[in-house]
Amino acid sequence: MRPLKNTCQVAVIGGGVAGLAAARHTARLGKLVTLFEGSGLFGGLVATVGEVDFLPVPGTFSGQDLATALLGDARMAAVQIVEAHVSKIELGPSLTLTDAEHRTYHPESIIIATGASLRSLGIAREVEFTGRGVSHCATCDGGFFRAQDVVVAGGGDAAVHAALVLAKTSRRVIIVCRSKLKAKRDYIEKIAARENVDFIWDSEVEELLGEDGLSGVRVRNAKHGARSDIDCTGLFPFIGVVPNSGLVANSLRVASGCIQTDADFATSDRRVFAVGAVRLAYGGNLIQAMAEGVGAAEAVARLLSN
Ligand SMILES: Cc1cc2nc3c(=O)[nH]c(=O)nc-3n(C[C@H](O)[C@H](O)[C@H](O)COP(=O)(O)OP(=O)(O)OC[C@H]3O[C@@H](n4cnc5c(N)ncnc54)[C@H](O)[C@@H]3O)c2cc1C
Repeated sequence: MRPLKNTCQVAVIGGGVAGLAAARHTARLGKLVTLFEGSGLFGGLVATVGEVDFLPVPGTFSGQDLATALLGDARMAAVQIVEAHVSKIELGPSLTLTDAEHRTYHPESIIIATGASLRSLGIAREVEFTGRGVSHCATCDGGFFRAQDVVVAGGGDAAVHAALVLAKTSRRVIIVCRSKLKAKRDYIEKIAARENVDFIWDSEVEELLGEDGLSGVRVRNAKHGARSDIDCTGLFPFIGVVPNSGLVANSLRVASGCIQTDADFATSDRRVFAVGAVRLAYGGNLIQAMAEGVGAAEAVARLLSN
């Protein structure tokens, strides 16, 4: 066990867009801020997205462009960066935060911006086929499936966005979804206009087929139970996200795992705040995540000034 360290007044956990915005703004408000990022990659869920949508500014940005700009800005604002996963937050008379290297910190306030992870299908051989047909990144891996048939599982924004990316290079994209598309209208209009995209409705991927790599998927219709096989070399599951909230006490979370806050992003422990995709009632796009980060920074600054 290393000796105790307490160099941060405010700890921001998570270097996605919400955490980067929160850290920068809290530092600009004159607080000593330490930002913890555990994956080695800043930007979170959008870090690997080639072209980010729904930014209220003209121009084209990749997730990496955005993360680099936000990280640069945070550094300029004197945010201290610690590249470590935070494994535990303890709520006691003083807050205790422990990272994966067993270092402990006692910040006066914490902003949790740990976001969410893509939900896995939870079916046999998913891990075995990850990197051998199963991928969670259309931008990074789409090129491997040039002129081939691929399946996208899911019907929300991320799934349709991935299908649009894949449709540019793959021969055929088959979207398998359990209900109607829940993506934004703009995405639905674009995907409807693609001639190489087909849909299998009311269905879910039940089984992965293949020997050394993926050669197809077995799909089950949820309404009448009929099964059919689709030949494909790629499968991109985008069936929702799971909040990364395992580091906090159950008392701060609801059954879904999301962290509950008030309108100022404070949890039931007034020193601890939560923003972005880990928060219950988060709306789902990155501008909102950044705005929540700024809102929590303001609330933290008020708390520490009292
Ligand atoms: C494929 C895809 C495409 C998308 N495209 C768009 C788009 O074009 N436009 C748009 O507006 N939205 C888009 N979104 C939604 C957007 O990505 C999210 O709403 C946004 O990323 C949420 O930001 P966040 O910072 O709250 O969480 P995240 O992006 O999940 O970031 C959380 C960060 O915290 C880190 N972390 C987690 N746990 C710990 C821990 N214990 N210790 C330290 N670090 C930790 C993670 O490594 C990660 O870097 C997309 C989502 C997906 C999945």
